[in-house]
Amino acid sequence: RAIVRDIDMLVEQNPSIEPVPTPEVDPTVFEKRFLKKIRELGEGHFGKVELCRYDPRGDKTGEMVAVKSLKPENREEQSNNLWSEIGILKELYHENIVKYKGICQEEGGRAIKLIMEYLPAGSLKEFLPRHRSKTSLNTLLSYAVQICQGMDYLGSRNYIHRDLAARNVLVENERTVKIGDFGLTKSIKDSDGYYTVKDDHDSPVFWVGTRSSLFWIFVHCCFHNLSLFSPSQLFLNMIGRTHGQMTVIRLVRVLAEGKRLPRPEGCPEPVYELMRKCWEHTPERRITFKQLIEGLSRMLQ
Ligand code: ADP
Ligand code: MG
Repeated sequence: RAIVRDIDMLVEQNPSIEPVPTPEVDPTVFEKRFLKKIRELGEGHFGKVELCRYDPRGDKTGEMVAVKSLKPENREEQSNNLWSEIGILKELYHENIVKYKGICQEEGGRAIKLIMEYLPAGSLKEFLPRHRSKTSLNTLLSYAVQICQGMDYLGSRNYIHRDLAARNVLVENERTVKIGDFGLTKSIKDSDGYYTVKDDHDSPVFWVGTRSSLFWIFVHCCFHNLSLFSPSQLFLNMIGRTHGQMTVIRLVRVLAEGKRLPRPEGCPEPVYELMRKCWEHTPERRITFKQLIEGLSRMLQ
């Protein structure tokens, strides 16, 4: 308090040192000229993500950020999607959802970039094979719990992700994972109930019950770490060899018949039981993310 009083006194004696109000700076607006690309982090269907340093002082002390933009060939037709992804991510606050930082506009607002926090260990898809021997079942279960927590939060905000997969789960460190890529996320309020299939990415396998996509992550984890078969191999064994569209058609038929993937070797029976409950055909009977969190947490040591 004494210091504050001293400062007040100083300001009184020297009116010229009174702080000049700086023009309001929006911390979520990033200027293109200060974004310095370091390297590519990855790419998916429409977008690419780069690691950049945002360095307004130009002395390499600025923070590292992940910057998502559309691939040039998709600029025109996908720009609404990136805007919608930005609009959604901006409103999400959860420890298991990648943090929004802001946007960067260029070319008179025609091209847009999404700025997010940078998660140094990349996606679960790259991380798991590299850390195979170090990843215990307990760790995998804990990732699953965190993903469920993020998904449960998303559901509470009336969103469905529609693209949950290991490549879209980001790893902060060995203990923490976060859901990323909200490019296909839809508000449940926008649509009346269920979707009709419009294009490939709306195809039922991609979104019918987001809960069932969790199984892909389980499968990915279990198979990658505990077993010899690749999930797609086992899948093809189940539905028979097919190509393109036929795969989807046969898959839907086989699932409707009630067939499911067998328990992966090394996957504990209780985990497999939960997986089966994710695949329940009738949505009302399918396990909820809350129940999954409970079930998985009970198995955690
Ligand atoms: P797309 O919509 O094109 O699939 P994603 O948002 O899924 O784009 O990002 C593509 C890839 O970039 C991811 O699979 C991941 O490897 C990497 N990536 C994305 N966001 C981050 C991030 N915040 N930190 C680190 N890597 C990231
Ligand atoms: Mg992706």
